[in-house]
Amino acid sequence: LEPLYSFMIRARVPAGIATADQWLVFDRLADQYANGTLKLTTRQAFQWHGILKRNLKKTLQGINTTLLDTIAACGDVNRNVMATSNEGLSPLVAEVATFAQTISDHLLPKTTAYHEIWLDKKLLSEGGSDEEPILGKTYLPRKFKIALATPPYNDTDVFANDIGLIAIGEGDRLVGFNVAVGGGMGMTFGNAETYPRLADVIGYVSKEEALQLIEETVKIQRDYGNRENRKLARFKYTLDRLGTDVFKEMLEQRSGIRLQPAKPYEFTQNGDVFGWKQNSRGKWFLGLFVEHGRVKDVGNYKLKSALRDLARIKVCDFRLTGNQGLVLGHIDEGDKVQVEKILSKYQVDHVDNLSGLRKHAIACVALNTCTLAFAEAERYLPQLNTKIEAILQELDLTHEDILIRMTGCPNGCGRPFLGEIGLVGRTLGKYNLYLGAGFLGERLNTLYREMLDENEILDELSTLLALYAEERNAGEHFGDFVVRAGIVEPSQSVATI
Ligand code: SF4
Repeated sequence: LEPLYSFMIRARVPAGIATADQWLVFDRLADQYANGTLKLTTRQAFQWHGILKRNLKKTLQGINTTLLDTIAACGDVNRNVMATSNEGLSPLVAEVATFAQTISDHLLPKTTAYHEIWLDKKLLSEGGSDEEPILGKTYLPRKFKIALATPPYNDTDVFANDIGLIAIGEGDRLVGFNVAVGGGMGMTFGNAETYPRLADVIGYVSKEEALQLIEETVKIQRDYGNRENRKLARFKYTLDRLGTDVFKEMLEQRSGIRLQPAKPYEFTQNGDVFGWKQNSRGKWFLGLFVEHGRVKDVGNYKLKSALRDLARIKVCDFRLTGNQGLVLGHIDEGDKVQVEKILSKYQVDHVDNLSGLRKHAIACVALNTCTLAFAEAERYLPQLNTKIEAILQELDLTHEDILIRMTGCPNGCGRPFLGEIGLVGRTLGKYNLYLGAGFLGERLNTLYREMLDENEILDELSTLLALYAEERNAGEHFGDFVVRAGIVEPSQSVATI
């Protein structure tokens, strides 16, 4: 008998937008082949955990029937392209999301091997060849990540990506992007050559030119990325080795596109917006809190059942956010009552009554499903947050927005180095504590203490939050305060070249 290997499967969903029919299939696959839950990731993808090897093919085929797939959700290729998904936030969101889909399609591997191996060559659509005009014979040296942000919302942490595109509009029309390059979160403990890095803004391109510029950036990484040491193979290291100025010149020369000076933009918000928002065409969008993106029924709080019922009556689409949250989208005015009724039947409250800490909290899956994890994250952060909330309440800080992020290792899937409070697992029950990231994703945090257990984390945070409560300036975020107060040195901030 072969061992009961189990796997994680991730579906690629550009800009995180899925239909009700897709949700229904994904929900069924979770029950049929996975651990009965769905995980909404920090990169707007779906994950299923605990799929036994013998069920891999059936699950992949199930996903494929929805016209979504797992191609390039993993591997040394361009991964899921992120974008703000809540159309109630800005008239530009729909156009930006469509462009995210265009980028995703353009950079997708053309090989038909996936279809041959997993789908028994039953192609759902025509096309596919083994010519790879962008990836070439060698593909990329490492994974490659792209995100788009629509100011004033930096809900995709645009500077944490190999390419970050900041949407620039004229009125309600998308006209182009400020381009940022060289971001990435991962590092390896004990290897000083590895580090998290925020992207540099290198200029502005029109919407018409952007795809060519992205393609050429990917090709430069393909041609110049480190293929001898995987730890140093991400684009951020290529960029630092070449120098951003040299890279920019090379990019302009190879693409034939001259970057213009970056256009003015302003981010004022990170994280998700909860509750009802209406877009300019009168459709409604409802932002829902999903703790660490885990869709499941727990006691009377039956989120998974509620979402399944909503998918069955087909009154909305399902939009994943970059913060493991969900937006029910494209709802007609007349259907709002039904949506409210179903959510309330399953005790899913969308009223924004969470602490400012919890609503911004991100945790990667870590133990017991990620084989790279040294410590807990998703299963532990909710309890830790409850203890921190008790401190916040005493200090009258419950409603202060604070970014807390926890991961089980320094690979950075939960973008911990952009947490105003970042906790990165070292070993079971112990974490490195990082402080001082910018609330808007514009500055990395700094290592403050190593190998802390829960009591030590709470002691440190009690002292620091008490100082913050007493000494902060009006409107000052916790990350800015710890830097101004000299508690940590400021780390790298986004530069405009
Ligand atoms: Fe796994 Fe580390 Fe990524 Fe968390 S950050 S999901 S522990 S690889």
